Amino acid sequence: MSTTWITDLDDFLDENGDVADLPLHAQRLFAHVTAIIVMATNPEAEAPPEYLVRCRRRPNHKWCPGMIQTDQDPETGEIIWWCPVCNDTGVISSWQGTIWDLSGDDIEH
Ligand SMILES: [Zn+2]
Repeated sequence: MSTTWITDLDDFLDENGDVADLPLHAQRLFAHVTAIIVMATNPEAEAPPEYLVRCRRRPNHKWCPGMIQTDQDPETGEIIWWCPVCNDTGVISSWQGTIWDLSGDDIEH
């Protein structure tokens, strides 16, 4: 069984662009998703080790050893991420222009 985590950054931010008051499970998901955005938008061809994101799942109460992989949908701009070990997958939208977006020059305003 795998679930696709669909996350829209707008759902986590208030009208000022600050992090909204979130329940604990949403805070955890938010921390995971923002780390993935930083990794995916890092301008380096290969993200430095400190940017890599570990899988957050714990099947059978053991941390999954997978490292999150990312891709970007060329049509929608959404970040697609997955764990190659446990197949946890997700899609992130509305991340462009947030403080976690390191791609900088590519933003069109
Ligand atoms: Zn995993």
